Amino acid sequence: MRAWGLLALSFVLVASAAAVRILGFTLYGNNVLWIEGLHALLDSLLSLFILIPVLIVRSKIGERYPYGLYKLEDLVAIILALVILLSLFLDINELFSKPSVVGIPVATVEAASILLLALAAYTKRQAGRELRSPSLLADANHMFVDVMEGGAVLVGLLAYILTRIGGAYTATVAMALLGLLLAAYEAGHDSLKAILDLPKDKEELENMRRAVEGVIGETGELLDIRARWAGPVIFVEVLLRLHPLLTIEESSLVAEKVKRSIMSAVEGVRDVAVRIEPVRRRRLKVAVPVDKPEIARNISRHFGRAAYFAVAVIEDGRIIDVEYLRNPALKKELADDASAKVLRGARVAEALFKEGATDVITCGIGEIAYAILLRHRVMVWRGLCGKSVKENLDALIKGKLVLMHEPTREESWEKDGGGRPGSGLRPA
Ligand SMILES: [Zn+2]
Repeated sequence: MRAWGLLALSFVLVASAAAVRILGFTLYGNNVLWIEGLHALLDSLLSLFILIPVLIVRSKIGERYPYGLYKLEDLVAIILALVILLSLFLDINELFSKPSVVGIPVATVEAASILLLALAAYTKRQAGRELRSPSLLADANHMFVDVMEGGAVLVGLLAYILTRIGGAYTATVAMALLGLLLAAYEAGHDSLKAILDLPKDKEELENMRRAVEGVIGETGELLDIRARWAGPVIFVEVLLRLHPLLTIEESSLVAEKVKRSIMSAVEGVRDVAVRIEPVRRRRLKVAVPVDKPEIARNISRHFGRAAYFAVAVIEDGRIIDVEYLRNPALKKELADDASAKVLRGARVAEALFKEGATDVITCGIGEIAYAILLRHRVMVWRGLCGKSVKENLDALIKGKLVLMHEPTREESWEKDGGGRPGSGLRPA
């Protein structure tokens, strides 16, 4: 694989930079070259060290664990940041010590090592991008900062060679140290967030949220979305509330769509866990057919022909309001029309939906009215016939009513009667 070749090349380049600097120090006895050489030596050791988790994470060992071993990479990135901080403290001495033997050969050695480091940083970044490895990318960033730091040191050395002013040298060393501090931050801050399960990228989280909302639309509500970054991957958890009329099969299709939409919206998502909250609705608007506008009256045996509908608002399990709606399908001008009779139930169903009803309790219902209510996602409950409207509402609140899964009768399409023979549906 190309990425591994790049990594090997990058290691060889850093190790050569270290060798060039240390060789320069042994030849010319300059302390800056010694510190810089030590730094590059440390970096080449780290280049090897960093490969251990990258290999483990992508090996079969990681598959044994539900969340893999991705966070090993974050751990190593943090250790790397600490090591850079440590080398920064080692280099701080250089601020206070007098510049040791500095000449053109020393500057040349530094320049050559910077060139090697730049190539190493570039190849490592390419490999890190191909493997989607945060620890490799962090290390590559650190090496780019090392290149700048090396450049600052080189400028300092040249300035000192030309002017022999100690201050110029000290200032450039200070700049180089600041670069080291930045390198530690670059290497560690993302992985620190990953270890602490803090959101690493709020924008990506927002992209996921938009993707989910696009999928569920009107059929539900996105209650919560969380993501955990672990090394090169992201684990996502989604909490949904779906419309209660969706079947379990339909809900699982929504969950599958949500999963796919997140995976295509954001790169690196390893897994999406979709939870659907089995929550009861807080507010219902329940329509019950009744022959007189009184809550103590028995529920009407008819749906389309009931004189009134009691429309009760139920909130948190309590009836907070009841209004009575005159059956709009019983208006005089409609009463004699034959087609109006057939479509009575349909008219009522549309009217109840417009009234904002979320639920209907009824003893009997024809297939057209039933289909219209279902289409508007109004839930149809089998009423307790012979009991009052109040008792039916209480039964619904206590969860004692069952959903109707089919209409109680077929419509009489033809003049000679209702329902196909042997359809199994009760006549109303
Ligand atoms: Zn370094």
